[in-house]
Amino acid sequence: MAKLSVYENVIAQFNNAADLMNLDPEIRRILACTTNEIIVHFPVKMDDGHIQIFTGYRVQHNNVLGPYKGGLRFHPSVDIDEVRALATWMTWKSAIAGIPYGGAKGGIQIDPRQYSRSELERITRRFTFALGSNIGPEYDIPAPDVNTNSQIMAWILDTYLSMMPPLERNRCVHVVTGKPIESGGSLGRDKATGQGVVFVLELWAKDHNFDLSHATYMVQGFGNVGSWTARLLKPYGATLLAVEDHTGAIVNPAGIDADALTEYVQAHGGLSGYPGGTPVDHRTFMSVEADIFVPAALENQITAETASWLNVKLVVEGANGPTNIEGDKVLQERGIGLLPDVLCNAGGVIVSYFEWLQNKRSEFWDLEEVDAKLHKLMISAYRHVYEAVHKFNTDWRTAAYVVALNRLEKVYRERGIFP
Ligand code: GLU
Repeated sequence: MAKLSVYENVIAQFNNAADLMNLDPEIRRILACTTNEIIVHFPVKMDDGHIQIFTGYRVQHNNVLGPYKGGLRFHPSVDIDEVRALATWMTWKSAIAGIPYGGAKGGIQIDPRQYSRSELERITRRFTFALGSNIGPEYDIPAPDVNTNSQIMAWILDTYLSMMPPLERNRCVHVVTGKPIESGGSLGRDKATGQGVVFVLELWAKDHNFDLSHATYMVQGFGNVGSWTARLLKPYGATLLAVEDHTGAIVNPAGIDADALTEYVQAHGGLSGYPGGTPVDHRTFMSVEADIFVPAALENQITAETASWLNVKLVVEGANGPTNIEGDKVLQERGIGLLPDVLCNAGGVIVSYFEWLQNKRSEFWDLEEVDAKLHKLMISAYRHVYEAVHKFNTDWRTAAYVVALNRLEKVYRERGIFP
C-alpha cells in the first residue's frame, strides 16, 4: 500500500469514526474538505541586504462552531498537506473541548534556526501583512505552534494592529493568542498544553488504578509541550527515563531531571551534550522499557515499524498526529493503549480561549482561576471521550472523533445549508 500523506491519515481516522457512528453522508462530505486555503509568497530583506522569497500558509478547515482557530508553525516540513491535516485536527479538538471555535492552522516553510532575530521579526511581520484580513479577532485567531512562541505572537499583534485604523486597535488585541503577559497574554498559557496532557494522564491513571508515583516514562520532543509535560509530572513522582529531540536522544535509568534539562535545552538549543544522560540512537530510544511514551514532537513518529519497537503500556499524544494509521493498528494489536492528540493536547487551545475571553472583557484572571477552568474543561472532554469508548466499544482516537463529529453534525442539522 502506498504511504498515506498526513492529511490522508486524518481522513482515514475520520472515516473510521464516521462509519462507526453512521455520520450523515452529506455532513461527511462537508467535513472531509477544508473551507479556505491561503498560500502567500512574500519578499523579505535579509540582514545582508538581499531579498528572499518565503512561502506561508493558512488553511481554514471549518468554522461552524466559531471563529477559525489554530497555531502557526515555522518548520521546513510545512506544506499544504501538513497544514490541511493540522487545521482539520483543530476542528475536532475544539469540538471535543467544547469551546466555540472552528479549526485552522498555518505556517511558513522555514528552518527558523537559520535566521537572525531581526530577520525572523521581518519574516513574521511581512507574513502577517500578507495574510491581511484573512485573520481577525472574530474570524481567524492564530497562536503558537512548533518553533513559534509568545515573541512571534507579539510581532503578529503589533503588525495587525498597525494595519487597523487607530480607533479600532484596542478592541483587536484578541486577534492572536499565546501573547506575552504584558501584551495581553494569559497566565498559564505557556504551560497549558503540558498541563492538559498531565490532567488527562491523571484521569486515566485514576480510572485504571495506575500508580503514577511509581511510573516510568519517556518523552519525544522537548519544546513547549514535552518540557512542560515532564516538569508538571515531576511532583507526581514519575521517573523520566529517556528524552529525544532534534539533536539526539538520551537515557538514564536513574531518572532525568526535567527542570535541569529544560534549562539546558533553553541555553543550548537542544539536549545534545546534556551531562545527565547517556546518548543513544533513535531505535534504542524508541525501544526503552517504560510505562508511558509521550510523543511531543512532529507527525508520523509512531508508524508500523516504530510501533513494533515500543516497550510501553500507554502512548499519550502531546504532539499533533504523532501516530499514523498503520502505527495505530500495530499498537492495538500489541495491546498498547493510546490517548489521542485531539484530547490530550487540547489544553493549549483551551487556555487560548481563556486569553481571548479575557481580552474581550478587559479582564485579567489569576493562575488559580485559569488552572481550575482548564481542569474543568479537560475533565469534561475526557469523560465524553471515555463514554464514547464504552458506548461504541472502540479505541480512544475513534471515540474522540465520534464526540467531535456528533457536535458538528448537530450544528449542521440545526442550521442547515445556505441558501
Ligand atoms: N498550536 C496549538 C495546538 O495545536 C494551540 C492552538 C491554539 O491555541 O489556537 O493545539
